[in-house]
Amino acid sequence: MIKLIKSRKQWLLQRSEISESLGLVPTMGNLHLGHLSLAQKALDENKHILVTIFVNPKQFGPNEDFERYPRTLEQDLELLSGLKKNEDQVIYVFAPASIEEIYPIGFSTTISVKGVSEKLCGLSRPGHFDGVTTVVYQLFALARAQKAYFGQKDYQQYKVIEKMVHDLCLDIELLCCPIIRDQDGLALSSRNQYLSADEKKAALILSQTLQSIQKKIEQGEFQKIDTVELKNENSSTVQWDYLEILDGENLNEISSETKQVVALGAINIGKTRLIDNLLFPLTGASIVR
Ligand code: AMP
Repeated sequence: MIKLIKSRKQWLLQRSEISESLGLVPTMGNLHLGHLSLAQKALDENKHILVTIFVNPKQFGPNEDFERYPRTLEQDLELLSGLKKNEDQVIYVFAPASIEEIYPIGFSTTISVKGVSEKLCGLSRPGHFDGVTTVVYQLFALARAQKAYFGQKDYQQYKVIEKMVHDLCLDIELLCCPIIRDQDGLALSSRNQYLSADEKKAALILSQTLQSIQKKIEQGEFQKIDTVELKNENSSTVQWDYLEILDGENLNEISSETKQVVALGAINIGKTRLIDNLLFPLTGASIVR
């Protein structure tokens, strides 16, 4: 069963009646197979799930796409109703009717995680992660779920939220779910639909570059990777924001302690910004520069 909830009051009443486990899947809607994979995992691991659909104004910069971000609630509900679940499982969908349902009038709190939020996307989108952590904290408080599901697609976001949960001793288990891609390797994103057919082709450079980095590292050729050169090679059709190879645990520079590597990239194609990453274990030769 799917239950659509439009207000925090309605949700809090509903929440008081749930005694079994609850899994939370925060989204901005316009659901695709990436979101659905999170919701399916949550259904597999919990009695009930809460999918939130809220285009959070606080995480968009003044010149970003808040206004034109696709809002497709009917379609989202349809997609969620296709998930595999037992008869007695409920998918609660909290799609607040107004911004005030999440941020009551006069709301004046910001949750801000320093350090890990200040690099990569944090540099080109000032204030973005404060918007993310503030809304996610609020959703955690409302949901009172045991587990929350996020995508590796937004890996830095996951790491920022992980730090918030650690620092504030929040009683919730976080799960980081694999990136779902289309058959060409492009990571699914609600923003892909802004792209023309040609731009979509050009966008493949992002996942392909990350793959080539992974391959080189696995072949023990880390020293030969020049990310500046890689960005220059591919700068005719896309503008690179960043391309970095970091420690997958903490997003710091690779060190002798590094066990997992993450290669992360962000590009701009026209007005569209896309991000992607690959996370893989560090095997074989040392790659400390
Ligand atoms: P969004 O609606 O873009 O805020 O995303 C909601 C959640 O879905 C976030 O935890 C994202 O990381 C996750 N997500 C988005 N795209 C994908 C994808 N292609 N594969 C897996 N998870 C994703």
